[in-house]
Amino acid sequence: MLTFTPLLGPLRVEFSDPVTLDQVRTENSALQPGGRFKPTECIAQQKVALIIPFRHRDEHLKYWLYYLHPILQRQQLDYGIYVINQDGEDTFNRAKLLNIGYAEALKEYDYDCFVFSDVDLIPMDDRNFYKCYNKPRHLSVSMDKFGFRLPYTQYFGGVSSLSKEQYLKINGFPNNYWGWGGEDDDIFNRVTSKGMSISRPDGIIGKCRMIRHERDKQNDPNPQRFDRIAHTRETMASDGINSLTYNVVKIEKDQLFTKITVDVGKP
Ligand code: BGC
Repeated sequence: MLTFTPLLGPLRVEFSDPVTLDQVRTENSALQPGGRFKPTECIAQQKVALIIPFRHRDEHLKYWLYYLHPILQRQQLDYGIYVINQDGEDTFNRAKLLNIGYAEALKEYDYDCFVFSDVDLIPMDDRNFYKCYNKPRHLSVSMDKFGFRLPYTQYFGGVSSLSKEQYLKINGFPNNYWGWGGEDDDIFNRVTSKGMSISRPDGIIGKCRMIRHERDKQNDPNPQRFDRIAHTRETMASDGINSLTYNVVKIEKDQLFTKITVDVGKP
């Protein structure tokens, strides 16, 4: 008899159903504090830290946890969820929050794979494995908001995964993209400039839904992004995980996630 739930394939993803965190906690009773899970029937191939950059999106996080926890368990991953919450109301810095997630997750456990996910993106097929591959992987390849297609070939935004080795090879992510846009393109440039290419699931398995929302405050499009993207090759050796500075304000352990509130500074 199977003691784990096999993969289901295509999934129904809706954001109109009412969901509460308590319900999600009850439905995921196998979790350890901090949103940690390990399969009991096998030894997982990888130890995966899921990193979510965050500020004022509790409504989205609830759906993310509701949908993702069961998927990640069916995928039999040894995983932990890290919500990296930018403290204060200054300009948002997504890529720096991702770097912080990498650094903080490694303080807790010997993770060898990092999945970086926006809080508002939900996969529509559980065959889209939230793990690492022999190349950096782009997971959110077929988003409803882009008509279930890639907006452009180099697009690397939304959800991606890098092994520890791949992440270190590109010196992590840039710390100086303040506001919306460009940081994912910079990461793509880092990957290709180190001689790597990206892998992707096909457009069926890679389908995902984005939770519709208004543009966040203090996350206006960054006018410097075009100039920065044009210079990734020159800047990446000195700007990345090797130059990361921040202060941890608070660490909270929920059953469903570890929330780390951080001061990232200002532009
Ligand atoms: C931005 C990216 C963004 C993409 C899709 C690009 O112009 O530079 O950061 O992910 O558009 O919206």
